[in-house]
Amino acid sequence: MSAPAQMREPIAGHDVAHIAAHLFRAGEPPVLLGGRCRDCARTFFPQPRFCPDCLEETTRCELGSHGSLYSYAVVRTRAPFGLPQPYAVGYVDLDECGLRVFALLDPQRPERFTIGQRLRLSCGVVGEDGQGNPCVRPYFVAEDLDR
Ligand SMILES: [Zn+2]
Repeated sequence: MSAPAQMREPIAGHDVAHIAAHLFRAGEPPVLLGGRCRDCARTFFPQPRFCPDCLEETTRCELGSHGSLYSYAVVRTRAPFGLPQPYAVGYVDLDECGLRVFALLDPQRPERFTIGQRLRLSCGVVGEDGQGNPCVRPYFVAEDLDR
């Protein structure tokens, strides 16, 4: 599967491409993007073209930047896409919309998470895009982390 053209555009503050423009917007703070159904207002991440409940089209919406850690795992097998080894992934319950999203966790501190921990979205150059090019990815870090 080839990447859509929009994935190759650079984002503000970074001189390399981001992994997927429709997943997040870089900035201070970075914001996770999803979809909201035009009819029933249900939200989704990532944004589907149509609502699976009522089949209405969705519109892009902001899902927020903060949440709490529902669960996580530290992956110690060989990392795909140039991710650091080990790396952590988890489910994050977002404050604003109530969605539980699967996400990469702080690649610089993969072993320092606890269930229920407060998190905020960050982004940075992590790994590559599958064709060997470095790319910017969104990930959650400890809310009180000073970076
Ligand atoms: Zn709907």
